[in-house]
Amino acid sequence: PRMPPCDFTPERYQSMPYSRVLEVYREHLSPELVYFDHEGNRYLDFFSGIVTVSVGHCHPKVNAVAQKQLGRLWHTSALFFHPPIHEYAEKLSALLPDPLKVIFLVNSGSEANDLAMLMARAHSKNTDIISFRGAYHGCSPYTIGLSNVGQFKMTLPGAVGCQSTMCPDVFRGPWGGSHCRDSPVQTIRKCSCAPDCCHAEDQYIEQFKDTLSTCVGKSIAGFFAEPIQGVNGFVQYPKGFLKEAFQLVRERGGVCIADEVQTGFGRLGSHFWGFQTHGVLPDIVTMAKGIGNGFPMAAVVTTPEIAKSLAKCVLHFNTFGGNPMACAIGSAVLEVIKEEKLQENSQEVGTYLLLKLAKLQDEFEIIGDVRGKGLMIGIEMVKDKTSRQPLPREEVSQIHEDCRQMGLIVGRGGLFSQTFRIAPSLCITKPEADFAVDVFRAAVTQHME
Ligand code: PMP
Repeated sequence: PRMPPCDFTPERYQSMPYSRVLEVYREHLSPELVYFDHEGNRYLDFFSGIVTVSVGHCHPKVNAVAQKQLGRLWHTSALFFHPPIHEYAEKLSALLPDPLKVIFLVNSGSEANDLAMLMARAHSKNTDIISFRGAYHGCSPYTIGLSNVGQFKMTLPGAVGCQSTMCPDVFRGPWGGSHCRDSPVQTIRKCSCAPDCCHAEDQYIEQFKDTLSTCVGKSIAGFFAEPIQGVNGFVQYPKGFLKEAFQLVRERGGVCIADEVQTGFGRLGSHFWGFQTHGVLPDIVTMAKGIGNGFPMAAVVTTPEIAKSLAKCVLHFNTFGGNPMACAIGSAVLEVIKEEKLQENSQEVGTYLLLKLAKLQDEFEIIGDVRGKGLMIGIEMVKDKTSRQPLPREEVSQIHEDCRQMGLIVGRGGLFSQTFRIAPSLCITKPEADFAVDVFRAAVTQHME
């Protein structure tokens, strides 16, 4: 299978100064992160700009709204309200359950999580924050301390402002211990390839309690969880686990934060928010990426009580947060998701795709696990199903590259970069899903030969 070429010619590429900048950067980035074509080839984007272009590239309605707003008003700063911010706040709040009704608008996922950390500390009057092994919550000096996957792990003790205020073993969560550090397969539900890597659910809760007991004074400020871990390769929790974890955190005075940066806005199909798939109600929800279809925009939603606690400690201010462009675009994105039934499409095409990919898992020894929900699907590559060792990075890169050459862009994730991440825009069709499966099958077959 091959996508037809587009009109983006080498000459046009060469004439763009930015392309030269990218070339320089290219040497410093892992090859699997760079998707750049100067030969005029077209690709089907099954990673949507890192799980971001939720309603599709250059959606006509979103474009029209953005252009209209561009001609009206770009910026007022957070000193003034303007109609798009009211409109957006109303639309977003209608999508969240009570009492999650106070909205703070910022510009990126890291900023949103920074603010959530501040809120957790202001409200609880405690300091320690817990996140999971394999979590990714951002790259700002504050949030990098919460991220712990692959290269996204702070290795400079003392260099991060908040690190000393965290639990000494802040990342110990249900994936802790040598088993999971060494194991290629961090799957935590029963999967066909890894029967003995699945602990009983209560063991995860015991490990979680253990982590909580290491917090200063055994009290905790906050607990961050992605409803499905994104950067870690779309890892899911056992059923009921988050609910129990939330309860334990609250018993110790902490607040629970759902990081919906990847999982929100209908991506998981069955629900608009990932936390709803776990039957929990967080105290704070953070969101970014899909919120603006690629336009820089993010939000933190919380309860009136927590917002008041923050206000008592500090005046939160953000120059660009909630700017007219972002709000107008955010509103258009919400309308498109509703009008085009994209959450429903995510459920339908996502399930279709998951089932087709699960068949590939039976077909190929090196596909260890296929998991996910809606249009957030992980394919974990292993040497073989018995050893469950990760497929070496170069081999995964080769399959990745073969997919790209056949016109399919997918993402990578996981501790060993061993998991393909499938997260296309929510508007994909079944024929496009078929194309992706065909390309993936062809790439894996080529690898096995
Ligand atoms: N949280 C999650 C779950 C993410 O996946 C990301 C980005 N990969 C972030 C936070 C940080 O978002 P940003 O890159 O916009 O700062």
